[in-house]
Amino acid sequence: MSDLDVPLRPKRKKTLVDFFVQFRWVVVIFVVLRISCTIYVLIYLGDLKSEWKSYDRRKKEHDENVKKAVKRLNERNPSKDGLVCTARMPWTVVGMRNVDYKRARHFEVDLSAFRNIIEIDKKRMIARVEPLVNMGQIIKATVPMNLAFAVVAELDDLTVGGLNNGFGIQGSSHIYGLFADTIMSYEIGLADGRVVRATKDNEYSDLYYAIPWSQGMLGLLVSAEIKLIPIKEYMRLTNKLLKGKLRHIAQAYMDAFAPRDGDQDNPEKVPDFVETMLYNPTEAVCMTGRYASKEEAKKKGNVINNCGRFLLGWMMPPNISLLKATQGEAIRNYYHENHVIQDMLVPLYKVGDALEWVHREMEVYPLWVCPHRLFRLPLKTMIYPEPGFEQHKRQGDTHYAQMYTDVGVYYAPGPILRGEVFDGAEAVRKLEKWLIENHGFQPQYAVSELNEKDFWRMFDGSLYEKARRKYKAVGTFMSVYYKSKKGRKTEKEVAEAEKEVAELETPEVEGT
Ligand SMILES: Cc1cc2nc3c(=O)[nH]c(=O)nc-3n(C[C@H](O)[C@H](O)[C@H](O)COP(=O)(O)OP(=O)(O)OC[C@H]3O[C@@H](n4cnc5c(N)ncnc54)[C@H](O)[C@@H]3O)c2cc1C
Repeated sequence: MSDLDVPLRPKRKKTLVDFFVQFRWVVVIFVVLRISCTIYVLIYLGDLKSEWKSYDRRKKEHDENVKKAVKRLNERNPSKDGLVCTARMPWTVVGMRNVDYKRARHFEVDLSAFRNIIEIDKKRMIARVEPLVNMGQIIKATVPMNLAFAVVAELDDLTVGGLNNGFGIQGSSHIYGLFADTIMSYEIGLADGRVVRATKDNEYSDLYYAIPWSQGMLGLLVSAEIKLIPIKEYMRLTNKLLKGKLRHIAQAYMDAFAPRDGDQDNPEKVPDFVETMLYNPTEAVCMTGRYASKEEAKKKGNVINNCGRFLLGWMMPPNISLLKATQGEAIRNYYHENHVIQDMLVPLYKVGDALEWVHREMEVYPLWVCPHRLFRLPLKTMIYPEPGFEQHKRQGDTHYAQMYTDVGVYYAPGPILRGEVFDGAEAVRKLEKWLIENHGFQPQYAVSELNEKDFWRMFDGSLYEKARRKYKAVGTFMSVYYKSKKGRKTEKEVAEAEKEVAELETPEVEGT
């Protein structure tokens, strides 16, 4: 079998759920889209209400709400109550994972009031925001000032709390890294009721570095200070058709944002934005973007594309929470088994290998690829660059960061589309194994098949575990592995895991 041949599989029997999924678009277009539109109007009104408050009032409300959250946390009786969770309804979160842990006994702390932009400090180029502020809300507030978060994930509904505790990639991540790399400070409510401010260089710097990817399992985030960058009104987009074998496409993608002479910090050579879509194993479109002023954009010959289509385009995309709420368990399981929704974060120099692997094992198209930096940090965090990467001077790398890329796999695999047998869970297991062997990472919003041992082979747990003990999270918040784990969690299982962790020795933490 050559590298791009795919295995032959037997045909699969269709079920009633196949029928529902095939015609789900009818319900989505004629029912869901309309309700979704109403939800967006209500969210917009909520944002307006928040905007009308003065910054002083928002700060005052924030302080009062922090006190309420801490009071609630302090009311918990560890011998009687379950572990602490936010009161966010499982279907309202954007992630694909089943939020099964909320079915067991747990102690809810309501953070729903934390949805204000508390301050925009143009001098320090920082926005202080509460965790439920979402991307749509921050864009509306900052873009009129020609400012933006350095990394703005591409779906309005994604929240600051979710992106910093979870993933956080976007077309500018080849410059700024992941969302958490742009956070200057966290205000966090700890298990013992203290509220602390963690920064890179204060007494809580270990907590600062331990929070990203911890899924909120070190404390409750109540606000964050996030880096702002100056922007222009328009984006000059260049779409380049890439044709050839997957390896050639991979090289052309790398060349679009990673100069071969290593001049990675030169804005003349590196675009502000980059992402690529592969439509099949031989064709892709690489999109690069550079900010442009109104004057530049309106020059003769330029075509200005005002986004939003006349018919139903302006209603898109449908609200993800609503789609999840109307799914039901059978359809949700169907998607887990027959669709792949996974991201593979891999060192950039392995992107060709990753694309070939996906083709062979899953045959999913289109594929989304988007680069991001992994910085070398004073402490080894849950995700970290390959040891010694800086000595190889590979394309995209600098002495302070290794260039990675996300290979986003979000659709029905070829065998499913051809009506063949395909084991989705097994394919994800293989994907995870491949990632572990290639120093790659799997964002935890997706459904994972990892067992605990392999979870901690993929992610480094030393700083996280140390912070969990130092900041008394053990016994109050569940471990990040149990939170990410697929399937229902029994209370006994989670409690026993907590007890085991409490008895272990505190690990040593390295630098990277
Ligand atoms: C259609 C789609 C598009 C996506 N696009 C992107 C994208 O462009 N870029 C990207 O990076 N990701 C993207 N994602 C993935 C996204 O990063 C995750 O879904 C992520 O979980 C954010 O979702 P959320 O804001 O609803 O947060 P949640 O899922 O609610 O939160 C994520 C985690 O953070 C914890 N958390 C949240 N708030 C707090 C808090 N205040 N205190 C403590 N813990 C907290 C939660 O408990 C949870 O464990 C996408 C996902 C989908 C389904």
